[in-house]
Amino acid sequence: MNVTYTSTRGSQTPHTASAAILKGLAEDGGLFVPDHIPALPVSLEALTKMTYQETAYAVMHAFLTDYTEEELKECIDRAYDDKFDVPEIAPIVRVGNRYHLELFHGATIAFKDMALSILPHLMVKAAAKNHMEKEIVILTATSGDTGKAALAGFADVPGTKIIVFYPKAGVSAIQEKQMLTQKGDNTHVVGIHGNFDDAQTGVKQIFGDKALEKEMADKGFVFSSANSINIGRLVPQVVYYVYAYARLTVQGVLKAGDPLNVVVPTGNFGNILAAFYAKEMGIPIGKLICASNENKVLFDFFGNGCYDRNRPFVLTSSPSMDILISSNLERLIYWLTGANGAQTNAFMEELKKTGRYEITDTMVEKLKDFAGFFASETQTEAQIAKVYRETGYVMDTHTAVASSAADQYEAVSGDHRPVLVVSTASPYKFAGNVVRAIAGPQTETDDFVLVDQLEKLSGTPVPQAVEDIRKAPILHHTVCDKEQMVQAVRDFLKI
Ligand SMILES: *Cc1c(COP(=O)(O)O)cnc(C)c1O
Repeated sequence: MNVTYTSTRGSQTPHTASAAILKGLAEDGGLFVPDHIPALPVSLEALTKMTYQETAYAVMHAFLTDYTEEELKECIDRAYDDKFDVPEIAPIVRVGNRYHLELFHGATIAFKDMALSILPHLMVKAAAKNHMEKEIVILTATSGDTGKAALAGFADVPGTKIIVFYPKAGVSAIQEKQMLTQKGDNTHVVGIHGNFDDAQTGVKQIFGDKALEKEMADKGFVFSSANSINIGRLVPQVVYYVYAYARLTVQGVLKAGDPLNVVVPTGNFGNILAAFYAKEMGIPIGKLICASNENKVLFDFFGNGCYDRNRPFVLTSSPSMDILISSNLERLIYWLTGANGAQTNAFMEELKKTGRYEITDTMVEKLKDFAGFFASETQTEAQIAKVYRETGYVMDTHTAVASSAADQYEAVSGDHRPVLVVSTASPYKFAGNVVRAIAGPQTETDDFVLVDQLEKLSGTPVPQAVEDIRKAPILHHTVCDKEQMVQAVRDFLKI
């Protein structure tokens, strides 16, 4: 059955998957959602015999129904190749009594590679299918990892340009260097004086600016998004939950049908929403545990049904989760309302006006598969040290937030079912914080020296992605105020 995509804010115009991917955001400012979640097209038994690429085809074909088999397979083959440093693409590592799904084996060593290595291919195909002749300008706000993964994915892709905005003081040293050394004539990187929410709000405003859109169109450009608001980011993320379940069955951890709890370090709510979609497709996922850092808006939301962003923005050691406006939650809200666009729109208007909204009791009841936990900075650091002491495994700060949440959930619930800890970044990306957590305060401040120290502590070699930027020249120098984002776009496009 064909899947079409409509907006969470009520406009009912159905879009094909490729049209939705091309647009990024719906006309009315809402997010595209599938009109139904397709059931798994193959049995769990069949999945156990599939490679990552075969699983990707099975899952993505079910959602992206207007792509031909040939088109999709070509995208998948180009995306999930030897850019990943392990043939399994997303390996599962047993750490104590937990199963870590390592999503950081791609080109930029964070989980954003799972979707952003395929999105450019999906988009180029979408442009051809929809007879789009304009040049696609990808605008992206990043809390650190999306930026580099999107730059790497779109660099030198014909017919595209990419502009990335990041909070100048809100990313790790390695994250910043990864972005600023990006090659490719079509790539642009801008540091803004502001936080991630400012960057994301600025990008959304540009998307919503009809006059600018018209002017751009006249000059041969069209905007799209590589943020997780793009449905083309979300669908590829469903794949690794399906794959992980099958792998754990093969490994004998699960019998087909046994529930698997998943704990996801969460920022914009894209990764955990993909887990929810996998569950809706028929993968026996038990609890969906949403792990937050000190920016614990989602923890509060799952506790009391009130989403309230009126609070100080905290800069933490897990910067990719430093977010107070979790965009993808809108897709869950829409589901909770029973696909009521007008009601979802009212909540989002309320959020825009007052910074908060409260969902109804009926909606709260439908949240019972979710649980929210958070880890403070101290807890995050202690978790890295504890897991290292007990198992020798070194995790990054984001994964540590999830690992702490897993412990907290198990302690309060007494639920001892197998837990998949979604491991979103290589510890090398946050070497400074990880070394300090394990070995105590350091006098050394150079992140690359700390990288070498981490190699000694962990016994795993420094990833190529880090070696590549050690001596690479800085190629991007633009910094601006958040009010100047439109001007920065104009400057790059020379309009
Ligand atoms: C982006 C990111 C997250 C948060 O993922 P969301 O899909 O935004 O919830 C967590 N950890 C890392 C390392 C990330 O890059």
